Amino acid sequence: MRIAKDHCFRPSRAYVGVGSNLGDRMSYLAKAARCLVDTAGVKAIQSAPIYETRPVGPAGPDNFLNTVFALDVCLSPLQLLRILHDIEVLMGRPLAPPRGGVGSRTGARTLDLDILFFDDLVFQNDELTVPHPHLHHREFVLRPLNDLDPEFSHPELGLTVRELLAALPPSEQILGVFAEAVTFAHT
Ligand code: AMP
Repeated sequence: MRIAKDHCFRPSRAYVGVGSNLGDRMSYLAKAARCLVDTAGVKAIQSAPIYETRPVGPAGPDNFLNTVFALDVCLSPLQLLRILHDIEVLMGRPLAPPRGGVGSRTGARTLDLDILFFDDLVFQNDELTVPHPHLHHREFVLRPLNDLDPEFSHPELGLTVRELLAALPPSEQILGVFAEAVTFAHT
């Protein structure tokens, strides 16, 4: 049997949180998806509906567009993180991370891409923490994640996405659906 060099037997499922609150927000989200579709090692990408959300903390006056991409990847988590970082920079995000640490919403940004889950991996080093440490507090993450995979179980907390979303206190953070879900095909 011959196996192509880039073959992988079982792609990993990664969920990536996506946000933008600067400039042409929808175009940054669409371009990010297009970049990922064109990346070797990314086998499929599906987007949840895109929500318009109020900024949390000192992120400027402008509302965010937020969604989650489900990716099937033949990549390691650190390879994926570096690809996401390159796409953020390509979209004009400054190289230095904003103050506030991982996943902070401090500062307006053209594009923010965070790895939320990578299969059921629990991992931490200087570059990457998976599952994303703040995801279970954030409606702007959990709502689109719930649209894609409500039964996905948080590997550390032992609760499904549906349960995590139901446990959040009521908020008026989500303003509405801005655009419907999209599946991106390889060209
Ligand atoms: P942010 O401001 O959310 O884009 O955070 C960027 C920094 O967080 C980068 O230096 C990443 O290496 C680090 N980081 C740690 N864990 C994650 C994660 N799960 N997803 C994205 N960035 C992460």
